[in-house]
Amino acid sequence: MSKADVVIIGAGPGGIFAAYELVKLDPNLKITVFEAGNSLEKRKCPIDGDKVKSCIKCPVCAIMSGFGGAGAFSDGKYNITNDFGGTLFEYIGKEKAIELMRYVDGINLENGGEGTKMYSTAGSSFKKLCMQNGLSLLDASVRHLGTDINYIVLGKIFEKLKDKVDFRFRTPVDSIAVNEDGTYRVNFGSDSMDADRCIVSVGRSGSKWMQRICEELEIDTSSNRVDIGVRVELPAVIFSHLTDELYESKIVYRTSKFEDRVRTFCMNPNGIVVNENTNGIVTVNGHSFEDPAQKTDNTNFALLVAKHFSEPFKDSNGYGESIARLSNMLGGGVIVQRFGDLERGRRTNEKRLRESTVRPTLAATPGDLSLVLPKRILDGIIEMVHALDKIAPGTANDDTLLYGVEVKFYNMEVKLSERLETRYPGLFVIGDGSGVTHSLSHASASGVYVARLIAG
Ligand SMILES: Cc1cc2nc3c(=O)[nH]c(=O)nc-3n(C[C@H](O)[C@H](O)[C@H](O)COP(=O)(O)OP(=O)(O)OC[C@H]3O[C@@H](n4cnc5c(N)ncnc54)[C@H](O)[C@@H]3O)c2cc1C
Repeated sequence: MSKADVVIIGAGPGGIFAAYELVKLDPNLKITVFEAGNSLEKRKCPIDGDKVKSCIKCPVCAIMSGFGGAGAFSDGKYNITNDFGGTLFEYIGKEKAIELMRYVDGINLENGGEGTKMYSTAGSSFKKLCMQNGLSLLDASVRHLGTDINYIVLGKIFEKLKDKVDFRFRTPVDSIAVNEDGTYRVNFGSDSMDADRCIVSVGRSGSKWMQRICEELEIDTSSNRVDIGVRVELPAVIFSHLTDELYESKIVYRTSKFEDRVRTFCMNPNGIVVNENTNGIVTVNGHSFEDPAQKTDNTNFALLVAKHFSEPFKDSNGYGESIARLSNMLGGGVIVQRFGDLERGRRTNEKRLRESTVRPTLAATPGDLSLVLPKRILDGIIEMVHALDKIAPGTANDDTLLYGVEVKFYNMEVKLSERLETRYPGLFVIGDGSGVTHSLSHASASGVYVARLIAG
């Protein structure tokens, strides 16, 4: 039986930054990282736009899994804020959380991110403009690495770690057992490994696995939220005054009809809309490149409505999945609809889409989102599009494209101490898999935090 000092499960930002910090603080530690997906250079989504046009539901999604995790082909927006992206500050304090996010930013800069831009809402005149129109702009600084530089940063970090950390790619961990002496045994395939400490960082793709592990080890969890909505795509020029200054603006709107909160999320100036496959369900997402040659004429962002459930219903993710499944059933994947068609209560068909002035960057099925999204959510999205039209005229144009559905699944929250430790000493859960974080910066910061605790 092989033995490690620290086993890390999952090589997304959480796992990578935990490994990075451990190596830095204690180079003698024996660290093994188990990752269900491939090494960075072997990660390849089969969609080539030619032979394979849409998601074929690979058992391990190359976009979500492998070195870099869900972050590898992301837009690489590292938001430095406690206002969104997770609730890490509730465990470790606001100052510490910001300090760690800045530290992560420094490591990214040292590893290929230098020269990328940091945007900030501080002093922005858009705060007033939003307020005057019933919208609220959240405070944040955001480093935009872009998908291409993000990939370079990951490659450089891997080069630094590869001889110091035992990486096991294509090796999903099946289960974790607590040994009598308080160490941990991770089981993978027909093999096992023991470790003094175990850091679990399995992200969103590992949400079901995480739930099972918590049940098996009798670790308490809670879950009551899912965000549901659409991805909006429009000509970049409509949002350019905002994106040039802020890159990403997190704007919140309270609907007049139901007083629901609708918010913008993951804004990608001159970006592309992409499919995302979570546990076989295809939803929509987006990203953009830093390289001018790869920029498109469109900007995309999500509009999401948070849905909180109360007792007795507990399966908020199941609710989101059912809605996504409905869109997959009707559209064979993601559905796209012109805003004008949605408001007129008619389906977008191939002809209407062809005639649209906005060229879609994702090959989705033209259809009718009103057959998929619950009325209350759809009403909120329509209201928000009109509210945004006041600060970015043209948002509510007929040809604005809405892709559905975008679902932001929240992992159930694992019961953790302020050390991000379960009730078992030395068994830590970090990143999006813990339910504590929902972003690159928070997930990475949680990895550094736990590594520092372990290295003492
Ligand atoms: C298209 C896209 C764009 C995004 N853009 C942004 C952005 O611009 N800014 C931002 O802040 N966030 C963005 N996100 C979200 C961000 O990527 C995540 O918040 C972040 O990656 C979470 O990091 P993590 O380490 O917690 O988990 P993940 O990155 O999900 O990594 C978890 C890893 O664990 C592995 N794993 C799971 N189960 C097991 C197992 N049993 N055994 C071994 N390995 C396992 C998975 O294969 C995966 O590689 C984006 C996400 C997507 C999909």
